[in-house]
Amino acid sequence: MSTSTLTRSACRVVEPLLGVVGARTRVPLATGGEATYANLDNAASAPALQAVAQRVAQVLPHYASVHRGAGYLSRISTALFEQAREHVGRFVGARADDVVVFTRSTTDALDLLARAVPAEARVLVADVEHHANLLSWQRAARTTVVRGGGDAQETAALLEAELATGDYAVLAVAGASNVTGEVLPLRRLARAAHEAGARIAVDGAQLLPHRRVDLAAEEIDWIALSGHKLYAPFGAGALIGRRDWLDAAEPYLAGGGATLDVSHDAVRWADGPDRHEAGSPNVIGAVALAQACETLSELPDGALDAHEGALRELLVTGLSALPGVEVVRPRPTDAVGVVTFTVPGHPVSKIAAYLSAEHGIGVRDGRFCAHRFANALGLVEGGVRVSTGVGTGSADVERLLAAVEQFLTTGPELEYGVVDGHWGPLTDVRPAPEQFLDRIPELG
Ligand code: PMP
Repeated sequence: MSTSTLTRSACRVVEPLLGVVGARTRVPLATGGEATYANLDNAASAPALQAVAQRVAQVLPHYASVHRGAGYLSRISTALFEQAREHVGRFVGARADDVVVFTRSTTDALDLLARAVPAEARVLVADVEHHANLLSWQRAARTTVVRGGGDAQETAALLEAELATGDYAVLAVAGASNVTGEVLPLRRLARAAHEAGARIAVDGAQLLPHRRVDLAAEEIDWIALSGHKLYAPFGAGALIGRRDWLDAAEPYLAGGGATLDVSHDAVRWADGPDRHEAGSPNVIGAVALAQACETLSELPDGALDAHEGALRELLVTGLSALPGVEVVRPRPTDAVGVVTFTVPGHPVSKIAAYLSAEHGIGVRDGRFCAHRFANALGLVEGGVRVSTGVGTGSADVERLLAAVEQFLTTGPELEYGVVDGHWGPLTDVRPAPEQFLDRIPELG
């Protein structure tokens, strides 16, 4: 028995924390047969919580147009939509005067905020950010990008030093990295920003699925989030925070619902969330997101951290014990369940394709829309990212470790190469995904 297998056999068992839809979904293997899908790509899109799917099924019969409809179901839908706003705000500890604007995603929310900052405002960002929290600012505002690349503590120190030198109006940071899982010291950065006369905007895409955040207590001015990373993949995200700049800004979208009155000569725009939510809103998405927030809020204090921490530890220990595997920043001071590794000498896309084709395991490979950070970490050719969620158990991690070990020892069963621009097995008995679509109704 190899050392890594021994280490793993002594692993403690970690059960999934909450039920997710698709936990038992079977996928075909390129080697023949099938396996239960192991979703280790939660950082990109997390499966729906069962509670979310149930809530959506419950409210659908009551769904109708919102805001402008006179019908009774329209009034119910409006109430559901506004209640969702309240629940999302409560989930992040919003202050009484904060706004919750429903968006499509974190990218959408950050883009909205970037366009809402006053024209003269200077924005500070580090280059460790996901493109959503970098390019939106660079495009819309006077933005300074400092070179980070060090660990979260170094990045924080760098940002603090830079804040003290300039007249910044906004500091934009990710709560947790989608490459290394590192968590930034938000409270400390919020203080530093405020002492320097700036506000802090947090990209909460990777943090909120793993950690509770309290805007009021942590003195965070805005936070952005994506429903599909928060176990509510129904197309809604949100921007939550200070209302003044949002009320003063040009409406994000121009159209119905964002206006109070339109005449030949003038348009009077609404303020509050309506100002930026023109068009028919995504009521079901908002309700789903709110349910995810409620269900996560009901977890006992510390349960989420303990679950994630245990899985991250199993992953890091198991991967680090495999000769030939390099884990990126394995043990930061504080991190969520996002772990990236490489196997020097092997293309990361080949490893990801192998994990799917021969083991039914879903991971992500590449530079994760954080090219500058990935490059600084030496991941110019990318990495393989494993990310856990509330539906992950130690059995999923065990499967991944065993599969990587097999890759390194006996090697893949199949030959791999680039097919149609993507790495994959050269012989593959799996039906093409388009053919699989017809089987979905019968598989349930
Ligand atoms: N920020 C971070 C840290 C992310 O991980 C992501 C998604 N990978 C985003 C922003 C963008 O999120 P979305 O694609 O949902 O807009």
